[in-house]
Amino acid sequence: MRDAQPAGHKGAFPPEPALSDVSARQDRLDNAEFEKQSLEYSKPTTRRPALIVDAEISTLRRTYSLGSSRLEMLTKVKNIREAVWQESQGEEPLTVVSATDRAKAETFFKEHGTRLADPPRQAPPNPLKPARAAEPAAAKDTSTHTSTPTPAGLDPSLVLLTRIAKASEAQAAQMSALANELKALREQLAQVATAPAASADNPPKCKYHGAMKPSKKPGAWYCPKKLADGSYCDQKVGE
Ligand SMILES: [Zn+2]
Repeated sequence: MRDAQPAGHKGAFPPEPALSDVSARQDRLDNAEFEKQSLEYSKPTTRRPALIVDAEISTLRRTYSLGSSRLEMLTKVKNIREAVWQESQGEEPLTVVSATDRAKAETFFKEHGTRLADPPRQAPPNPLKPARAAEPAAAKDTSTHTSTPTPAGLDPSLVLLTRIAKASEAQAAQMSALANELKALREQLAQVATAPAASADNPPKCKYHGAMKPSKKPGAWYCPKKLADGSYCDQKVGE
């Protein structure tokens, strides 16, 4: 804060600069942001037309001396036009627009057109490597189900690759489940193979505790030995 000038001598001093150093720095930042944003809004994108034109940007520069004021007005104008554009596309606009502002915005779009930006240009096919590029395209044509639409904005070949990867993942899981089933079956078979000779006189043997006892289920045997923790030995045959 500067010292107040003595009363009555005001006219004798040169006029004070309007902004302090800190404020001037902030103003430069605000102005830079204004220039950046106004340039952005003056260009149409693939989703919305230009929201402001050069003549208006010049008017904002002339009318408002502070960067913050320019930014504020720019944001207001941009929000109103964006909201009117969203409404016209059937979207829910974020900004509520008064009837007067809507009429002004509609006039603006009528005057300056509502052309969207052209879609990004695509490089022409490279004649030097046609074979590689043609392969996935051909595969896509025959194997992609037309019933599943490609999500907007995604490269179709990427979608196809993802689908293939998912399918082979599911296949791998199926194979491993089958392998586990086979292993269990083989173990059961091995047990059955050792079991037939078993009878009351010749019971199968627990590999730890010796002779097993016939269980209630015909042809099945269990080890009657109790372990240190009070539970039964878990060795079984034909179960
Ligand atoms: Zn046992």
